[in-house]
Amino acid sequence: MNDRFEDLSLTQPILGALGEEGYEKPTPIQKAAIPALLEGRDLLASAQTGTGKTAAFAVPILELLAEEPESHELRAVVLTPTRELALQVEESFRAYGRYLKMRTAVVLGGVPYGPQIQALKKSPDILVATPGRLLDLMEQGYVSFEKVEMFVLDEADRMLDMGFIHDVRRIVDRLPRERQTMFFSATLPPEVAALAADMLWEPARVAVAPPAAVPEEMIQRVLFVSRHDKLDLLTALLGLEKIKRALVFTRTKHRADRVVQHLTRKRMSAEVIHSNKTQKARQRALADFDSGKVRVLVATDIVARGIDVEGITHVINYEMPNDAEGYVHRIGRTARAGARGMALSFCDAEEVALVKSIESLTGYLLQKTARHRFHSSAIATLYGSDEDASGEAKKPARAKGWRSFGPRRKGFGR
Ligand code: AMP
Repeated sequence: MNDRFEDLSLTQPILGALGEEGYEKPTPIQKAAIPALLEGRDLLASAQTGTGKTAAFAVPILELLAEEPESHELRAVVLTPTRELALQVEESFRAYGRYLKMRTAVVLGGVPYGPQIQALKKSPDILVATPGRLLDLMEQGYVSFEKVEMFVLDEADRMLDMGFIHDVRRIVDRLPRERQTMFFSATLPPEVAALAADMLWEPARVAVAPPAAVPEEMIQRVLFVSRHDKLDLLTALLGLEKIKRALVFTRTKHRADRVVQHLTRKRMSAEVIHSNKTQKARQRALADFDSGKVRVLVATDIVARGIDVEGITHVINYEMPNDAEGYVHRIGRTARAGARGMALSFCDAEEVALVKSIESLTGYLLQKTARHRFHSSAIATLYGSDEDASGEAKKPARAKGWRSFGPRRKGFGR
């Protein structure tokens, strides 16, 4: 049961929006959380980014708010640890709520106060915020919690790591006692569990596995290359026969288009898939890639979540992803079911810091390889070159506390 969004008692405006997002069926966390939240229960969810957790709370919040659409008072508050996450969450509310008349606002640090104060004055229904700025604006009297019915604490364990737990408690103290609370955390260390116990009343509990783990047999390499040489490097690599089926990632749709145009000019069979393409075009590109009609698929991160194609031998990060989680997601598209897969990451001067942060968060040192025509020793030096010209794999060093890199587990999106 609950295998389709239609089974979850959602109304047409939301079902339509989810369809347009390209979501075909609910993820495990969505299947479990949405019905409990629609019943008005509190929720304690162990789930991390990539599991579909945002929709797991945003969809029921929108449904519940839509029961009284015209009230236009602040009724739902979401706290996130980072600015990026706050923006993403607000964007998700807008996407899933596109057919509802809901107002959203976002409040976060590091940007001017003016526009946020203006947005608050327009009485949003939903507010997404990082703790510091929200406290600040609360103390200046710009936020009233009187009518708040629903509260989400997202990534509670990260809040703790980032030193926000006190701020969170101060905010929670100001919320009405009579409310529905949704608590999300990837892990539940004692301090986080204590916070959950204080905030929740007889919560429904949901735990889902991490979205993707990197298989041990995966080979992960970094190629230092100047931005201007990336297209030539890609073309040269794709000329190798052993690359049977490659998924190439870019950060932007524009870049994805450019890469495919270039490959097509070089008479290589390549297709592109990103969110500006119609659903039909995306499905066709995927089907052609799946059947082997095209050998190379170029994609952006957003649409790649749903790619579930057998036999991808190579994932190529033409541009590095934003963070370690993105990296794990991308390379999780290959080396399935014990097959050997390879992830090749192109790193230009501006991406050196990203490679380092991915390495430190995942606890894996990616293998540096200078064995290609476009190798840039200047960028390797920037990295602090522990470059391994022999091409031998470095023994991966595991960092503590990174759970996604354990033995492979089945999860959403695989
Ligand atoms: P989250 O864990 O909320 O960060 O979501 C991870 C990614 O999964 C986002 O790119 C969502 O757009 C996407 N997503 C969420 N729910 C679904 C679904 N039911 N089907 C396909 N993609 C989804």
